[in-house]
Amino acid sequence: MATIAWIGLGNMGGPMTANLVAAGHEVVGFDLDAGANEAAAANGVRIATSVADAVSGADAVFTMLPKGEHVRSVYKGDAGVWANAPATALLLDSSTVDIETSRYCHDESAARGVRFVDAPVSGGISGAAAGTLTFMLGGAAADVAEAKSLVDPMAGNVFAVGAATQGIAAKLANNMMLFISLVAASEGSQLASSLGIDPQTFWDIARVSSADSWAMRTWYPVPGIVESSAANRNFDATFATTLALKDVALALGAGDAAGLSLPAAQLAREQFEQLIAEGLGGKDCSLIAKLVHPDGAV
Ligand code: NAD
Repeated sequence: MATIAWIGLGNMGGPMTANLVAAGHEVVGFDLDAGANEAAAANGVRIATSVADAVSGADAVFTMLPKGEHVRSVYKGDAGVWANAPATALLLDSSTVDIETSRYCHDESAARGVRFVDAPVSGGISGAAAGTLTFMLGGAAADVAEAKSLVDPMAGNVFAVGAATQGIAAKLANNMMLFISLVAASEGSQLASSLGIDPQTFWDIARVSSADSWAMRTWYPVPGIVESSAANRNFDATFATTLALKDVALALGAGDAAGLSLPAAQLAREQFEQLIAEGLGGKDCSLIAKLVHPDGAV
């Protein structure tokens, strides 16, 4: 069993560390938020006093932080991961970040002679709690192989995607597709209802027809059809609109850098921006269904 340092014990990091503890690892965690630390401690995580304290003596270090800027700041400087983790530790970032931040972490780690793997996840808070996340790993083959065994207690599926940054690249492309299919589920569901089709009947048809998608099966924005849909709970967030905007913007940034035209993703971004402008950024991203209607009612 390994000693695992974990920086960022929020909505994802909290349940992910609980699964590592349950698998028998010693987990030493640190978060700036006292409540996150308390919740993790209740799950058996030993709480450190700082990043430096958490990572000294670790066999592996995970970061699960909001954005690239947080990851960079936790890695850099005298108090950061690079200055304080043992040279033998495997460093893994599971946050959803821009490709440039992931490249920076790989390059700076290599310059210091330490190993880094980009290890983003898909599956949300429920997947984190259930230990069924999909991990997408990027890095040197031997490091990715070691990462695979470490993430196993948190994972339903683990993919060795390829070289450095390929894990995060897969994550950004996956989430871009998700949000485009959410736009489709949003518009299709509202069109079908407004044409008088019973919503359950239409969902049953689409589910076994060419409109099927994960967004349709999991986030269908009509109450009473799909248990996991936020529509059943007044669109309280299972995936907040602000988080959706962050992910689609990261994908668009990667597309821009590659010289691609991604109009469907741009439309998804505009829809999330519109909800946020209406003060609904904390609501579920499937609330874009309301933008279909002139009166804004779903
Ligand atoms: P969160 O905001 O709940 O948790 C992030 C935690 O990081 C917070 O508790 C915050 O206090 C802590 N933090 C910030 N800066 C810190 C620092 N310098 N030192 C220590 N702790 C610090 O976010 P989350 O939902 O857990 O998401 C984390 C990452 O995972 C994000 O990049 C997100 O995009 C990605 N992700 C989230 C989901 C999801 O459904 N929530 C799914 C897949 C991936």
